[in-house]
Amino acid sequence: MKTIFTKEDKLIAKAEKLIKSNSFKSLEDEEEYRALLDEYKSLLKQVKRIIKMSDKTQTELKAVSEKLNVISHIDALTDLYNRRHFDEVLQKEWHSALRSKDEIALVMIDIDYFKKYNDTYGHIQGDKCLKRVADIIKAYAKRPRDIVARFGGEEFMIILPETKIKGAVRVGKDILTGVENMKIEHSASPLKQQILTVSIGIASISPSKESSIEELLTEVDKALYTAKNSGRNCLRPI
Ligand code: GH3
Ligand code: MG
Ligand code: MG
Repeated sequence: MKTIFTKEDKLIAKAEKLIKSNSFKSLEDEEEYRALLDEYKSLLKQVKRIIKMSDKTQTELKAVSEKLNVISHIDALTDLYNRRHFDEVLQKEWHSALRSKDEIALVMIDIDYFKKYNDTYGHIQGDKCLKRVADIIKAYAKRPRDIVARFGGEEFMIILPETKIKGAVRVGKDILTGVENMKIEHSASPLKQQILTVSIGIASISPSKESSIEELLTEVDKALYTAKNSGRNCLRPI
């Protein structure tokens, strides 16, 4: 505020000096000058207050807009990134890998027999389960650029930039055993352990002009399908 109003503040100082110097022709002139100065001072004060208020509103608006931006990229149930954020990051990482000629890997995780789980334990328990699985997945995708997102209902996706298939398989294995070790009871599961399990598909690619994001998504989906058809609670790289 000081920097914007230096000219006005100097003007007031000059006027006050003039009043003190007693150089007015008459008392009336001096009083009129003093009244005008007081009015000027009060108007300036008002302007300063309005600017301060507008600055505050702007700061608050910026904070709200930043918060909204974050929320619109987060899945409320699991606290993971949502599909929208996943799509945006995958685009970005794809182009970055294209430039750097690095590999990019996707890990797709789907809870096994989750419909049966909901039918047996109810949707609220099902939601709690989704959150626990989401937390496990997040714990194993540790690198700063790794992105874990809720892809659909009970499907999750991890983007692993600069990662070859071997590295992605390691992350997938950690998740597979991590979920198993939680030993969440699933009495309706046709699998003999009768606990909640996941199936995982993995694909990686070194993007080129001839390949596409859709291709990578199709590949990882195929890998997951193979894992499901191989008895579930397992991992299949493409
Ligand atoms: P599969 O092993 O072949 O994956 O079988 P599945 O039953 O897991 O797969 P299916 O696609 O038949 O059913 C997915 C179920 O996931 C359906 C729905 O009950 C459940 N589901 C999806 N989103 C949510 C959610 O937000 N909360 C809860 N509680 N359940 C959900
Ligand atoms: Mg599914
Ligand atoms: Mg499923």
